[in-house]
Formats: sequence, structure tokens, C-alpha cells
Amino acid sequence: MKLTRRDILRFAGGSILGTMCTPLPWKLLDDSSIWTQNWSLTPTLPRGAMTTRSTFCTLCPAGCAVGARCVNSVPFAFDAVPGHPLGGGALCPVGLAAHHMPYHSLRLDGPQQFSGKGADSHLTAIALQDAIAQIRAALASASASGATVAVLDQRPGRAISALYQRFLAAYPSHAYITAPAGTDETITSLAALSNGTMPDAGFDLEHTRTVLSFGAPVLDGWGQPGRTQAVFVDRAAKGVKLIQIESHRSRTAAGADLWLPIRPGTEAAVALSIANVIVRESLYAPGAERSFADFAAYRELVMRYHPHPVSALAGVAPDAIVQAARAFAHGPSIALSGGEAAAGSLPQAARSIIAGLNLLCGTVGREGGIVYRDEAATPVVPATRLQDVPDRSIRVLIMDAAESGEAFPAGLLEKKLVPDTSVVVLLGPTLTVRSSMADYLIPASGALEGWEELPSVPGAPVTSYAVVSPLLPGRTNVTDPVAFLTAVSGSFDAGVKDTQELLRRRADELHAAKRGTIVSADGAVRTAVASMASGGEVWDALVAGGCWLGESPAVKPGAVRFALLPADAEAGVAESTRPITSDSRNVVLEPFGMRGALSTGAISPIMSKIFQESNLRAAGGSLLLNPATASAIGVADRSMVTVKTARGSAKARVYVDASVMPGVARAAVGPLPNQTPVSEELGMTAVLELCTLRPDGTWRYTDATIEKVS
Ligand code: SF4
Repeated sequence: MKLTRRDILRFAGGSILGTMCTPLPWKLLDDSSIWTQNWSLTPTLPRGAMTTRSTFCTLCPAGCAVGARCVNSVPFAFDAVPGHPLGGGALCPVGLAAHHMPYHSLRLDGPQQFSGKGADSHLTAIALQDAIAQIRAALASASASGATVAVLDQRPGRAISALYQRFLAAYPSHAYITAPAGTDETITSLAALSNGTMPDAGFDLEHTRTVLSFGAPVLDGWGQPGRTQAVFVDRAAKGVKLIQIESHRSRTAAGADLWLPIRPGTEAAVALSIANVIVRESLYAPGAERSFADFAAYRELVMRYHPHPVSALAGVAPDAIVQAARAFAHGPSIALSGGEAAAGSLPQAARSIIAGLNLLCGTVGREGGIVYRDEAATPVVPATRLQDVPDRSIRVLIMDAAESGEAFPAGLLEKKLVPDTSVVVLLGPTLTVRSSMADYLIPASGALEGWEELPSVPGAPVTSYAVVSPLLPGRTNVTDPVAFLTAVSGSFDAGVKDTQELLRRRADELHAAKRGTIVSADGAVRTAVASMASGGEVWDALVAGGCWLGESPAVKPGAVRFALLPADAEAGVAESTRPITSDSRNVVLEPFGMRGALSTGAISPIMSKIFQESNLRAAGGSLLLNPATASAIGVADRSMVTVKTARGSAKARVYVDASVMPGVARAAVGPLPNQTPVSEELGMTAVLELCTLRPDGTWRYTDATIEKVS
């Protein structure tokens, strides 16, 4: 079967399962229920020594500690490591099945190339040396003409990240790019309010009293699941509060102490209204007037957002806004935004206003608030978020294999590429939706098969670093990223021959810095790096499943200067407090999904099958509508509709769901059901490509119409 770019874009992981090289016939999963009734066909399980290896899940940046149960050294089950500082003793549903990934039926069996740029161009095999030669020519051409060469690294802070930056430095115009959104968006918004002088920081959840979350899925795939679980369990007894502000009764909203169901798009107005209460009732931090040069302008702005008019705009009771404001001001507290894996960030102005609440109440640089972190193990190189890269500027883009677990529209990437002549290379183990964006697919090591590294967890209060050694033998067809950079450049000297040597050198550098501690694999023993004899000792401890933890730096409160408002606050706030209207057919389209489970190629086929059959999670192609909205449109549960936006249309299957606000259509972004016939239903990228891209690169809310398919 010939795969086209359109096939991958629309159906990745659904109807095309099994078309790529696979050592394990996942089709047999469909027959498991038959096997149980026909014992002669039951597969024989391997027999041998049972062992447990300490490792980490690398499917998302949380990097949770894992005990891998093995038979004959082959992992067959993943368990969390209780009390471990990385992960906190729990795994999410995606990580629980991470050991299936080496057998994923969408594994690439060799380098592949698209025959052209169009949606109908075919994916065909290409010899590695031919792909390397063509990519090298594209890089040379970009270099000669001064066009931009870029690397997209969704896991910055690794040793390979620094190597990418060194590789790029040889090109006259280059860009080191990170993903458009993530757990740390509140931190990056605060850094912008400090004009970039703020040290690295994280959330001190363990000592906080109130978390005020604007749509961040705090209890459902945000940060490290075990850590947040530990913070919020028994919280009534601990006096900890979670306030969730979002339109949908999500798992986090359902588990929160207070839920403010606001109309989509009114987050900035609600945040300003919370600030209004805090300022009017003088609940802000002592000395705030003197600490912030723009306090007068801030006060003038927030005074326009009294809870009563905002209540009418946002559709939430004014008392609820007042209650949230008073609880938040009674710190230590943390206000955070975003982190929704498919919907991306809130608009920039809303993010800044929400981040500014932390400054107003003096929670930045304080225990229980947003605390500064030690330097990372690997120096974090300056990066540009994808949305901030100039449009039509990138001639050659290399996409690293590591995934953030979050999605972004292909249209956002396409906007940044030089039309027609750009070359995009994806280094990755599996065919995913991102593969449809590339011109060359070069197989890289997958989970459990190659050397990997885990840099500091975004949002964690301390920096960390871990090395993940292979549990399974590597495949012969994969290309190491270090070797790839050397081969395509021709002149680049990585200084090491492969990733293992690169990480080994990192252990030597950690030892030379003599900072931090190494925590043993079971989390029980901590050894100061300064007391270790050599880099080899550090390396051995890391390879045995230990991890490096940094220390909290001594940064005096007030040593970092902030503004409460971004420079263009007035225009940004005016735009982001615009009410979004809807009527019987017009709705607000909101994409949503679970981190790490947005593409069938990135999740174990068993887990995507569970999505499909359990209804515990909405599978890709589902459109959730409130009963009132469904009735106004005249559609019943499970009927097909057409969703239309200014960017196009797609079909979806309706699920009537009272947890969705009237006038809102929540579209699930992946994974697609396995082994379904080719359908016209809304697929992952179809949802995201229907979303309007705002000038600040966000796509959270889009006006749409819904029509019944007759
Ligand atoms: S949160 Fe991320 S790292 Fe942790 S188990 Fe889930 S996928 Fe793995």
C-alpha cells in the first residue's frame, strides 16, 4: 500500500496500522477475545529469569521513574517507583504501556521520502546514503544563500540540545526552536515580564496553599502525575485548595474545590477581575506599589474589571470571582495557565495577566509559590518558540525524535517554512502525525532501545538530570542523531562519536561542577556529587537508574525586577477580553486531548484501543456537545455532523455530553481508533487545521458552525 501525505495527516494510526514494518502483528490484538475461547491459538509466553530494571519513562518530559519488570531481560510491565523524586510514585496511562512501543506497528523500517510537497505525494523508501546526500545538499544551498537552517527540539536542556545549537552555529542564519506550548508557560510569561532576567523556576506545589489554575489539566496529565497526586490527595486535611477556571467540567474541574465555568476566551477578563478584588481589598503583597514601576497603570487597568460586568461577560457569578480572589490572596499560592495538550497556550495577553497575579500577591521567589531553581545540568541554550519564528523563513528544518506529548497544528509549522523549496527532516522511530510534515523520515532509536537523557522536568521546583540506558538491543536500521549531524554537515565536529559517548561526557562535566546530589534508583540514598571520586562513578550511578538533583539557589526576593504588565498590555488585553458569541448553529470549537495520547503513532496500540472501546477517554474524531446545543442543531448522540470554520470543514461524530458548556464544541484530538475502516471522520490534524491561528501563534478557540450530515 502506498501512503500519501494526506493519508498520514488524516488517518495516522487508524486504518493504516500494519502497513509499515512490524515484528509483532498488532492485528492479533483484535482477536484476543477469540483466543480466550480457542486455547490452541493462545500465544506462548516466554519463560526465563524474572528481573526488575530501574529506568525512566521517556514518552513525555515528565520522565517518571519506572521499575521495568522483565522476563529474560525483556520488559513486560512498567511499575511506578514509590517516593521517587522523579514521578513521585505514579505513572499515567500512557506510560503504563510504554514497554509496548518497541513493537508498534508504525515503526519505520528504513529511511523514507515523500515524492513531492503536495498532499497526495507518496512516501517511498530511500537509501540512507542517498537521503544524507540530498539533505547535505539542501543544507549547503541554504548556507550559501544565507537562508535559515533550524532544529525543532521539543525536549530542550539535553546534551544533544547543546550539540544542536553548536551544529546550527555554522550556518549564517539559524534558529534553535522549541515547541509552542507546555507546562512551563506561566514561568516563561513571568520571565518575559522580567525582561528575561528571571532565573529558571518551578512550582513549589508541596508547600502551597492555593493553586489557581486557568485551564491547566492539573489533575489529568500535567507535570508529573505522582507528584500532583500526592499534593492534592487529602487536601482538605492539609488545607490545600485547587480552584479551576475553565468552561468544561474536565477531570480537574470535577476534582477541584471550586470550579468557575467561564465562557471560553474570557480568561484575561476573569484574571483582571480577580486582580480587581485583590487591589480594591488591598490583599496584594506589602510594598507592591513600590516594587512595580507600572503599579499605577496596573491599578488603572484592573479597576475597569469589576466582578459584576465581568460576571456578565464570562457567565460566572461575581461571588465566585470574589471567592477565588480572596482564596488566592491568602497565600502561599500559585496562579498558572495553559498546559492543555491539544489546545495549546492561552493568548499571550491572558498568559501575562495570569502570571502577573503571582507577582501581585508576592508568590514569586517564595516557598509555596514559584521558586527559583539551580542551574540545569546542561546549560540551557537560548531558544525561540515556534510561534515566534518569522513566517516563511526556514529553508531546512530538522525535527528531533523526542516528543513533548503535546500537539500543534501543521499549519503553524508550514507558516514558518519557505514555501515550496523548504526541506524538513524528521528523526524518529515511528510514523506519527508529525511525519506528514516532513520530506525525509530517518528512523531513530525508539523507547527502551537507545541511549536517552531526561533534562529538568518543566515546572518542577528543582532541576534534575537522568540518563536512560537501553533495555532492549538497538535496531540496525536506526541513525544516531550525533552521527546524523556529522554526516549531513560534512564539516561539523561533534567531538563524540554517538549519543552514549555524549552522555558519558555529560557525567564527567557533572562531576567537575561538583554541584547537587545523585539520588539512587529507589530514591532512598542521596550522595553529594562533590563526594564522588570521578565522572565514572557519576556515570555508573546514572546508568544504574539514579538521577542528579540540583539545589535551590539563593535568590533574594526582590532581587529580580518585574513589571506587572507587558509593554503592549492595552491592545492585547482589549483583544483577549472580546466576548465570544454563539447561537444555535454557531459554536466555539475547542480542541482537547491527553498529553502523550494525541497521535496513535505515539501511544501503545493497546492504549489507543482502550480509548476506542472503553469510552473512558474520547477517541479522535469525537465532538462533544451539550444536550442543549445538540438539540438546537437537531443532532442526536453518535450522529455525524460537519464542522465548518474559516479554515475548512471536516466530519465528526457527536457525543452528547452535559459536562460541556452550551455553545461550545469540544473536539478530541487523537488517538484514532485502531483498525477501523477508512472513514471521513475528523482526525487529529483535521481538528487542529480547522482552528484559527491567532497572530500570537495560539489556536485555542475558533468560531465554527455545525451542520447535521443528512
Ligand atoms: S507522565 Fe509522561 S513520563 Fe510519566 S508515565 Fe506518563 S508519559 Fe511517562
